[in-house]
Amino acid sequence: MSGAATRAAPANGLSFDVEEYFHALNLRPVAPPASWEALERRAAGATRQILDLLAARGVRATFFFLGWVARRDPGLVRAVRAAGHEVASHGMTHQMAGELGPARFREEARASKALLEDLTGAPVEGFRASTFSITPGTRWAFEELVAAGYRWDSSVFPVRHDRYGWPGFARVPVRIDTPSGGLIEVPLLTLRLLGANLPAAGGGYLRLLPLRLVRSALSQMNRAGSPGVLYLHPWEFDAGQPRLLPRGIAGLRHYFGLKRTRARLERLLDEFPFGTVGALAAGGEGSSAPGDQGIGDQGRPGGQRPWCSK
Ligand SMILES: [Zn+2]
Repeated sequence: MSGAATRAAPANGLSFDVEEYFHALNLRPVAPPASWEALERRAAGATRQILDLLAARGVRATFFFLGWVARRDPGLVRAVRAAGHEVASHGMTHQMAGELGPARFREEARASKALLEDLTGAPVEGFRASTFSITPGTRWAFEELVAAGYRWDSSVFPVRHDRYGWPGFARVPVRIDTPSGGLIEVPLLTLRLLGANLPAAGGGYLRLLPLRLVRSALSQMNRAGSPGVLYLHPWEFDAGQPRLLPRGIAGLRHYFGLKRTRARLERLLDEFPFGTVGALAAGGEGSSAPGDQGIGDQGRPGGQRPWCSK
């Protein structure tokens, strides 16, 4: 590629995991899967508000649909697609990769892809595992995704966390080769500080922490010529959702700052360019460069970039 070529890819990726408030892992103790069918569904209303916001800004984003939601509200999937956004998969049941195991993970990856493609009439190329659950212990998931026909994934959060995370993973899009073929991994946004990766990709981090942390992370990435990927959930825009969790750490994680999610996202949209995650993955094609940081977690700093947005 000519160095002068201007890449069409946007600088950063904006994504929404379209699931209900009761699908969040924090809610599992009070809202087990057997209870879901009886609970009030609210994702559609919040998602339509997000669509309005993005339309007003002229921003395209990626919507990772949980199959559970898509099955119950096919019109919502079609509305997202008709608004010009990218539809990708968030699996079927919101179980983590490690809970599912390879066979059921593959089954969900395939079933959700077929379902969403059926609804939109367009190829579904991207995937995000529930709760960022592709980690060193579930790296088999990459090959399952390739086998299921995906071209890219955005499930790896290169941080230390009690439930997920792969701290030694690259912080920028990388190509991953598996025996079944290659896949582009587009990891979630982190801030490199004092030799560690801090989570800064949105969600609870956007609501709970000072906005400057997310800003600094995006600036740091973009200065280095790399994109940052943000994630949010429709329920994070829905301050009126039923309060199923008691006060406490889990309640704080889920409910704190819901009223400011929208304003904070709007400020970030004012300050940084955003687009779909798929566009970033397309920009990362062929980047399994020599010196690839690989997918190993051998304590590599993960700060260099085999991928370049310019
Ligand atoms: Zn999710």
